[in-house]
Amino acid sequence: MNIHPKKSLGQNFLTDPHYLRRIVDAAQVGAADQVLEIGPGLGHLTRELAARAGRLVVIELDERLIPRLHEEFGPKPHVEIVHADALTYDFGSLTGTWKVVANLPYYISTPILQRLIGHRDRFTTLTLMLQKEVAERIAASPGGKEYGFLSVLVQYSASPHREFIVPAGAFSPRPKVDSAVVTLTMRELREHIAADESFFLRVIKAAFSQRRKTLRNSLSQLGCPKGVMDAVRSGTGIDLGRRAETLSVAEFVLLSDFLGREQIEK
Ligand code: SAM
Repeated sequence: MNIHPKKSLGQNFLTDPHYLRRIVDAAQVGAADQVLEIGPGLGHLTRELAARAGRLVVIELDERLIPRLHEEFGPKPHVEIVHADALTYDFGSLTGTWKVVANLPYYISTPILQRLIGHRDRFTTLTLMLQKEVAERIAASPGGKEYGFLSVLVQYSASPHREFIVPAGAFSPRPKVDSAVVTLTMRELREHIAADESFFLRVIKAAFSQRRKTLRNSLSQLGCPKGVMDAVRSGTGIDLGRRAETLSVAEFVLLSDFLGREQIEK
C-alpha cells in the first residue's frame, strides 16, 4: 500500500538504518524496558524498538497508518498500537515507568514535550528527534540567545544531553531543516523545586515573552504590586534590571517562590 506523506502531520520518515540504530542505542533500550513511541509512522523506528524493548506502546494519529502497523506489529504480543492524538492521550493511564523514544512531528514538538514533562514521574528518559534549533534551545545555558522558556522548562525537570545531528537527507521526504537527537533524563532528586509550579510556569513565560526588556518590565504582566517588585532585590538578591536570559533555573525558582509568597501575604 502506498501512503502519501502528509506534511500537515509532520510526516518526514526516518529511513536511514544507521540513524535509526543510533537513536535506539542512545535510549539504551533493553528487554527490561517499557517504551512509548509517539508517531510510529511507517514503523521504521518501531521495528528497531520492537526488537529490543520488553514492552512497546506506539501512539499514531494518522488512521491511514493504523492497518499497516497492525499488519506488521499485531502478531507481536509485546507491542500495542494505539490510534490516538499524543496531545490528548492520557499518559497517566500508563502504569510503571517508561522510556519515551520518538521522532516527533515538529509542528507540535513543544506542546508534546510540555505534556511529557507534566507527567515526568511516569518517564525516566525521553530520547527525542527534534529540529536542531529546538534541541539547541533545550540544552542551552544561561547568557546566550538560545536560552529561553524551553530551556528553563526542560532543565527544571530534566538534564538534557545532546546526542547527535541528523542531516535532512536521512529522511523521506527531506525536511527543510537539520534535526538533532537529545536525551532528557528526568531528575529523580530535583535540587530546586518551585513551591507553586503553575505560578513558576507563568513567571518564566512572562519573563521570556519580551526577552529584550528588563525583568521589571516583562514581569509587570503578572500584576504583582509595586511594593513586592521593589522588595525582590533585598528578598532574593536578583536585580530586576537584568534580562530573563541571564537567570539560571535556580534563580527563576527563587524569584517565583518570592513573588508567589509575597502575593499571598499582601
Ligand atoms: N517514527 C516515524 C519515523 O521515524 O520515520 C515517523 C516520524 S514522523 C516525523 C511523525 C509521526 O507522528 C507521523 O507518523 C505522524 O502521522 C505522527 N503524528 C503527527 N501528529 C501526531 C499526534 N498529534 N499524535 C500522534 N502522532 C502524530
